[in-house]
Amino acid sequence: MLSHEQKTSIVSYPQCDTYAWYSQRAWVEIDLAALSHNVKQLRNLLSPKTQLMAVVKADAYGHGAVTVAKTVLESGASWLGVATVPEGIQLREASIKAPILVLGAVQTSEQIHAIAHWKLQPTLCSPKQALVFSDTLEAIDVDATLPVHIKLDTGMSRLGTNWQQAGEFIQLVERLPHLRIASVYSHLATADSADLTVMNLQHQRFEEAIAQIKTLGIEPPCLHFANSAATLANQALHYDMVRAGLAIYGHYPAEHLRQTVNLKPVIQVKARVTQVKTIAKGMGVSYGYKYIAPRDIRLAVVGIGYADGIPRNLSNKMQVLIRGQRIPQIGSITMDQIMLDVSHIPDIQEGEIVTLLGRDRDEQITADDWAKELGTISWEILCSFKHRLPRVAVE
Ligand SMILES: *Cc1c(COP(=O)(O)O)cnc(C)c1O
Repeated sequence: MLSHEQKTSIVSYPQCDTYAWYSQRAWVEIDLAALSHNVKQLRNLLSPKTQLMAVVKADAYGHGAVTVAKTVLESGASWLGVATVPEGIQLREASIKAPILVLGAVQTSEQIHAIAHWKLQPTLCSPKQALVFSDTLEAIDVDATLPVHIKLDTGMSRLGTNWQQAGEFIQLVERLPHLRIASVYSHLATADSADLTVMNLQHQRFEEAIAQIKTLGIEPPCLHFANSAATLANQALHYDMVRAGLAIYGHYPAEHLRQTVNLKPVIQVKARVTQVKTIAKGMGVSYGYKYIAPRDIRLAVVGIGYADGIPRNLSNKMQVLIRGQRIPQIGSITMDQIMLDVSHIPDIQEGEIVTLLGRDRDEQITADDWAKELGTISWEILCSFKHRLPRVAVE
């Protein structure tokens, strides 16, 4: 825990800005039209009274939180979800006025002070945490009550009070000064699975908890349950608001949910060819010589590497796009550079743009392709691009 002396400073990351990005060796393009399109697609699935929370935690899944937040709010989202207090402050400092729910746990008095000061809305996960909040707010002598969001655990086994204790928990919060219940919510563990057993069980538990709360004469003003997968899978899970992350960035949580809406990937990762040369048959390429030229090859060096977030485990496995063609990457991916076999584009020029993720003419490489190759999920791929890559907004 931080002491009072250790002042934290909020690192301000480069957001989508237009400074001389064309001179950069590598960058991330954020397609704001695609982002807006995705929000509208999701909005179309929702009843008019259901609100859309855009989850912009982790710097909007690597897309740049401030730019994304502004765009989604103009496109039909009315709430923002973040994981941490600093993520919320970053949005407030950018003059974003929309309600912001902090989805993660907040526990220290410094965090609670910041929540009150910046008008962020916390998640309350337990009676103990509710008491800490109430006591802390009492001590700073605020007149206003703080809107709080009650988190129930219906089977994710992460944050929240178990659904069977929903009644006691809410009754306690109701009676505490300085706190006002703004919503009751829970989170699904398997919404992206084609097997609906667990999701249905969690749904039933959420319903039981709501019934318990209503029996006590308490009417929660807002209920929310669905992440992207549940938003696409089942309208019965939409309640008063949905919390969508992955889908607004244009990715499907699972193959079987592709039919529901038309989503467009928002992110593209690009870099430039920095050198082109011929390598003789039998020469090794890059650290460890994990690739030996099987014939004379035309080799292109590209200025992007694992320190930018290109997973080193894709070495010798990934393809990139140049002039709408798929080009194999060869040898180990290094910290700042990768090599390509461009033998079938003999006139390739230094300075040409290489698409690592995204579309080039009729070809497309997505975070799903990388995730499949690496045995992970698209969420992790999106979050992996480092801030050394400037985020550039394109319309
Ligand atoms: C991250 C998160 C979401 C969004 O999940 P997606 O699968 O990306 O839509 C929703 N709710 C909570 C509590 C989360 O932590």
